[in-house]
Amino acid sequence: MKYYSTNGKAPLADLEKAVVKGLAEDRGLYMPENIYKLPQAFFDDIQDMSFQDIAYNVAANFFGDDVDPDGLQDIVYDTLSFDCPIVKVEDNIYTLELFHGPTLAFKDVGARFMARLLQYFINRSSEAHKTVNVLVATSGDTGSAVANGFLGVEGIHVYVLYPKGKVSPIQECQFTTLGKNITAIEVDGVFDDCQALVKSAFMDEELNKHMKLTSANSINVARFLPQAFYYFNAYARIKKLGLADNLVMCVPSGNFGNICAALFGHEMGLPIKRFIAANNANDIFYNYLQTGKYEPKASIQTLANAMDVGDPSNFARIYNLYGQSHERISSLISGATYNDEQIRETMRKCYSETGYILDPHGACGYRALKEGLHLGEVGIFCETAHPAKFKEKVDDILGIDIEIPERLAAFMKGKKQSVPMSKDFSDFKQYLLKQ
Ligand SMILES: *Cc1c(COP(=O)(O)O)cnc(C)c1O
Repeated sequence: MKYYSTNGKAPLADLEKAVVKGLAEDRGLYMPENIYKLPQAFFDDIQDMSFQDIAYNVAANFFGDDVDPDGLQDIVYDTLSFDCPIVKVEDNIYTLELFHGPTLAFKDVGARFMARLLQYFINRSSEAHKTVNVLVATSGDTGSAVANGFLGVEGIHVYVLYPKGKVSPIQECQFTTLGKNITAIEVDGVFDDCQALVKSAFMDEELNKHMKLTSANSINVARFLPQAFYYFNAYARIKKLGLADNLVMCVPSGNFGNICAALFGHEMGLPIKRFIAANNANDIFYNYLQTGKYEPKASIQTLANAMDVGDPSNFARIYNLYGQSHERISSLISGATYNDEQIRETMRKCYSETGYILDPHGACGYRALKEGLHLGEVGIFCETAHPAKFKEKVDDILGIDIEIPERLAAFMKGKKQSVPMSKDFSDFKQYLLKQ
């Protein structure tokens, strides 16, 4: 498969180049030239297949030209060592719990998949061994998922850039305590500053001569695409219940990588009727749907901090996927935006009416689905984070004392280590040049 750039000014790349480079030369995002439909027989039997087998079929459809079947099966099976159940919250509303991975983040799948795929390419390459440096900007969850997905993978070093004081204490522990091939960089700024530093680093000629750089943000095809596995699996489980005919999928969104993967799934034939992109107060995509104008803004800090994005990078992919047609995009996807007070209110209401504990991100999804679902439709919203990850907030809002899962608590025991950094690119560049 060849990959082209959304900016249309870079040469075509093969998968290896797209994964190793992350961003195309013209700063565009890589898109596959073709998205093949999966055969009808696959959808006929999907309800009886395992998560791993469903995922392998989806992966083969995308990566089958570039990775041999045994290698790909290995990567997929290693990535999906956990379940992702759908849970009924109330009549016609289900949640897809995406937080059962190693760091309890849905990003675990893309992170691990990408780490294993990069390793596959490094091992296959006849070139002299040169360390691949992964740069990743995070507002919390990406950093922990990527750091843990790449931990101990030979030939790869990871730099996690995060905004000082703006990630939850548990999240911070998940990428600052690991050591080995993981370095945490604490940036005096907001998430958008971290993202800008990473983007500038990729564009810097001197730096790229000095070291091999790639990105593990959802701009990387190997990071965002595997998230499509979740949606095929959710479809299979809801089909098993006989409820798949008028299915609406609602995705709490920040950089729009997760929903973009769902949309790629849809292009592969996944029978989802329509989508809802749920946002917090960062309403750039919502406004685009209403006006047809895409106007990035500085991000606003909210309770759902993993969605505090003022210029969602995967918008370019979605725009491109539908031929830049606002009409096509807005007829398939609707939007919603909620401020912090509405998020609190939704968490309380859902807890008292159904007993289900939402985290602030999932709360946006639940509310958007509840307000947006039409008669005769069944909806699934993604619960993108385990509520214990935002324990202080959730406890405070719901007046409960939520238990921290053992797997999360284990991270809290390590010692925090990070490199302080200003938001000026020249400082970051000097630092990298010394590595
Ligand atoms: C990353 C993240 C999101 C947003 O996902 P995108 O792919 O960036 O749209 C939502 N919720 C949580 C908890 C996240 O970690």
